[in-house]
Amino acid sequence: MFLEHHEGELLKPSLAVLSKAAQLGGDVEAVLAGSGVEGLAPRAGGYGASVVHVADDPRLEAPLPQPRVDVLARLVADGSFDNVFFASSILSADVAAALAARLDAGLNWQLTDVAERDGGLVGTQPALSDTVVCEVGWTSTPRLALFRAGAFDPTESGGEAEVRRVEPQLEDFSTLAEMVEQAHEEQSGPSIEDADVIVAGGRGLGSPEAFSLAEGLAKALGGAVAATRAVVDAGWYPYATQVGQTGKTVSPKLYVALGISGAIQHKVGMQSSQVIVAINKDPNAPIFEYSDLGVVGDVHQVVPKLTELVRQRRGG
Ligand SMILES: Cc1cc2nc3c(=O)[nH]c(=O)nc-3n(C[C@H](O)[C@H](O)[C@H](O)COP(=O)(O)OP(=O)(O)OC[C@H]3O[C@@H](n4cnc5c(N)ncnc54)[C@H](O)[C@@H]3O)c2cc1C
Repeated sequence: MFLEHHEGELLKPSLAVLSKAAQLGGDVEAVLAGSGVEGLAPRAGGYGASVVHVADDPRLEAPLPQPRVDVLARLVADGSFDNVFFASSILSADVAAALAARLDAGLNWQLTDVAERDGGLVGTQPALSDTVVCEVGWTSTPRLALFRAGAFDPTESGGEAEVRRVEPQLEDFSTLAEMVEQAHEEQSGPSIEDADVIVAGGRGLGSPEAFSLAEGLAKALGGAVAATRAVVDAGWYPYATQVGQTGKTVSPKLYVALGISGAIQHKVGMQSSQVIVAINKDPNAPIFEYSDLGVVGDVHQVVPKLTELVRQRRGG
């Protein structure tokens, strides 16, 4: 399992896939690569890793894929691992694809589940804009798998991991790319990939300023704010928050859609949310067809009251 970290924390999607790997049985080892990351390794033991291989090196500081592929390729070759799992992210997708090419291995991506069958693995992969679900397999080992964010919950098992240091041996070509600049968006609360609750805003909010309604409700619920492509294209909200066919795929426990029509391209990014609540003034809006709870009303009237109620219930 390739673990990702950010700002001194192991990321929840990584821990979720790690605990899924542990539930499959057998020995599960994890790989952590970065600079100043060794202190994070023991935590992976609590989610099912028996060993954490740590490549802690200043050359791994920038989130670039190729040096990480060097670390993984060597470990996978030396350890004869059957499966290598990744939790979906931009970095992990790059690393997984490059590792597959390096090892001439098969990679299945966007998986929402995996199970053991007849001594092999079978992955679950939604396809055709999530209108069908396919079972996918691998014809050789190592089997590489990249899982959708939100596919599993992290489950603590309380174990301890042995931490093994790895000396990264980087290929010349792996050090040619250089991180010139890295900008972090100011963000309070969880990202949409990590959040259990997402409040998404659409064109029905009426203006960029009205996104404060979505932000207020998200804060009260302890969630993150997402957006439709219509508002991202209009420059109302950042691209990183776009959910849908050309944005991110999310599966939170609760997805609240404010002023969103529910176009198919948006639906494919959020339909696997556990509970979908929509607020829209048009009773015929397509989003109501796949919502668990629908409120026909004006977001400007409903959302402030809802936010106030949530705050009161949560005692803040
Ligand atoms: C190739 C392609 C890829 C695409 N990828 C994506 C994608 O990744 N993600 C995505 O989201 N879209 C995507 N789209 C665009 C998609 O088709 C829709 O145009 C878009 O999702 C609509 O966004 P919206 O719901 O915010 O706006 P609209 O469709 O304009 O809907 C606004 C809704 O708000 C309601 N409303 C208006 N005022 C109020 C109010 N005061 N209170 C309550 N409700 C109100 C209206 O009744 C309406 O239902 C893609 C399109 C194409 C062609």
